[in-house]
Amino acid sequence: MARKMTGTVLSVGKEAEGSKKVVVNLEEPLNFLPGQYCMLSFPGREEDKRAFSIVAQNGNNIMFCIKKSRSFTERLFSSTGKNVIVEGPYGRFVLPRDKSENIIFIAGGIGITPLYSMISAALKDEWKGNLALFYSARRKEEMCFFNELSSLQGENFTARFFFTRQGSGRVNAEEIFRTCPFANDAIFYICGPSAMISDMRSQLLKRGVSDDRIRSEEF
Ligand SMILES: Cc1cc2nc3c(=O)[nH]c(=O)nc-3n(C[C@H](O)[C@H](O)[C@H](O)COP(=O)(O)OP(=O)(O)OC[C@H]3O[C@@H](n4cnc5c(N)ncnc54)[C@H](O)[C@@H]3O)c2cc1C
Repeated sequence: MARKMTGTVLSVGKEAEGSKKVVVNLEEPLNFLPGQYCMLSFPGREEDKRAFSIVAQNGNNIMFCIKKSRSFTERLFSSTGKNVIVEGPYGRFVLPRDKSENIIFIAGGIGITPLYSMISAALKDEWKGNLALFYSARRKEEMCFFNELSSLQGENFTARFFFTRQGSGRVNAEEIFRTCPFANDAIFYICGPSAMISDMRSQLLKRGVSDDRIRSEEF
């Protein structure tokens, strides 16, 4: 159930070019499902809030990975030691219950955050189905969790990275179906900007994927 708590920003550190890991200490651990998010705001300005996916939790500390945007994120990045209001968890963009499902994750830019959380949890939880990630960022330097995702690869998880401004093209359904043997029997999880989601969705529908096998979250 969603709750509202006051947290303290413990640390803000670089994750990739243009994005930072923000760790918030809470009064007690948050009961969330990988893929869910919290609304963050500043004390006294609680109506001005933004959604951020929970990347990980360690005891009472929850971690977000946040792309620098406008004034809200700038203020958050200079809030070490200060209080923030944390509301959540929210969201239904979570793993299916059946661990034997094959899942293809498609991320655009900072849209990797809920997917990274789901992938790490699924692998830790001995997921039985096959998992594949297709992750696009403008440049390798801007890609979050590149090393972590690379080292998570194994028997039932593969990651493919696309750098759209460094010549490796865009992820597309043809490439997914060409390289992923279980694409015809998978659930698709897409997260990123709205244009990318609607483009991917229509490509997948054209390939015969049924609408109820496509789940998405727009940032
Ligand atoms: C479910 C979800 C999860 C997300 N997870 C992440 C993440 O993990 N990392 C990340 O970097 N980004 C994430 N985002 C995007 C993030 O919430 C912000 O949209 C982003 O940081 C851009 O903020 P902005 O203030 O620059 O943009 P803006 O376009 O100004 O605002 C974006 C949204 O914030 C709300 N908003 C804006 N101004 C106000 C206001 N004055 N009062 C109340 N609400 C307002 C509105 O809903 C608006 O659509 C997520 C978004 C969603 C929906």
